[in-house]
Amino acid sequence: MKRPPDVPIRRDTLPESVSRPVATPIMPSVVYASASPDALDAQYEGRAEGYTYAREGHPNADILARRIDALEGAEGGVVTGSGMAALSAVLFGLLSAGDHVVGGDQLYGRSLRLLGQDLPRFGIDATFCDVTDAEALRRAITERTRLVLVEVVSNPTLRIADLEGIAAAAAEAGALLVVDNTFATPRGIRPFEWGADIVFHSVTKLLAGHSDVTLGYVAARDPELRARIRDHVVTAGLTPSPFDCWLAERGLFTFDLRYDRAEANAAHLASFLKGRSGVSRVIYPGLPDHPEHARAARLLGGRFGNMLSLELAGGRKAANAFTEAVPELSFAPTLGDVATLVSHPASSSHRALTAEARAAMGISEGFLRISVGIEPIEMLEAEFERGLRAAARASG
Ligand SMILES: *Cc1c(COP(=O)(O)O)cnc(C)c1O
Repeated sequence: MKRPPDVPIRRDTLPESVSRPVATPIMPSVVYASASPDALDAQYEGRAEGYTYAREGHPNADILARRIDALEGAEGGVVTGSGMAALSAVLFGLLSAGDHVVGGDQLYGRSLRLLGQDLPRFGIDATFCDVTDAEALRRAITERTRLVLVEVVSNPTLRIADLEGIAAAAAEAGALLVVDNTFATPRGIRPFEWGADIVFHSVTKLLAGHSDVTLGYVAARDPELRARIRDHVVTAGLTPSPFDCWLAERGLFTFDLRYDRAEANAAHLASFLKGRSGVSRVIYPGLPDHPEHARAARLLGGRFGNMLSLELAGGRKAANAFTEAVPELSFAPTLGDVATLVSHPASSSHRALTAEARAAMGISEGFLRISVGIEPIEMLEAEFERGLRAAARASG
């Protein structure tokens, strides 16, 4: 007689244990089995809690979302597959043809592109303005303006938005204020406390902190908006992977420690670099000569962050020499990693702009943006010293 092959198609249930795991398990299951159609009804009708299908939500995403909610002072935030997915969910979940959007003119490059190039195909137009000046924003608002999008700290020139003036202007116009809080992080500012309606993040950056996950997060103050954003995440499939959520949860345990160390390093490096020969400019919101230093002190409560920018007087040659002399400082276009990263906006994030447009923003060929990490400060000083010397030699 032929025996049926011994293939373990029937899955085992989890082994019994009266003790519970301390660390969060990774739960990659795509579906959740219910006991009966009646039990499923109870779930869909909100009489019982439970998951059904992972695109609609899963435990690892919810655990991460609740932790970021706590940091932002939010409720019911959603984790998405990337920061751009979070922004897409806001725009496509809430806007309709005929609406108008006002955005900061130094927004993250892909945000500028989404607003300026993609939204118009859906009949939604955008105007960009200088958000350090609330009056400029007021002038950009029209009767059709439904949403205002700003970052408190701009990239890469680290200008500080007039968040108080902007919140007042948006409220008067009946427009939603959306804040991309990726650079400042909730350790710098909690935008809901300053009048934001919606806050989103690229969790990829400082929150996850190890350059090994791509994730986003979005929360809205109003439960109805929250539901529409969540629906778009589910419909468009902007859902994150359980493993990525698990990694980010792990990263978040040390977020405050990493942030404080990186910030202290950045403040130290800013004074170390200031006034050095071959360095024509150091931009750090904590420096008294920063154009919005007082505003940064007020909005960020004296938390000036881990990002700093500098300009090498020797232009592209000096920038090449600096990065080549210090390969330990990864020359890579992201931020918020535990290790210090150097980026060169003219050849990366801002390469699509003309040299004139870059010059108008103060971005030259010698401009470097530094995402300061948590290394011992002596190590960073020695590496920057080596980089500056090489830059000086190259500029002759
Ligand atoms: C990286 C970044 C984004 C986009 O996030 P992804 O996770 O890469 O999609 C949006 N805004 C800011 C300020 C960023 O730095």
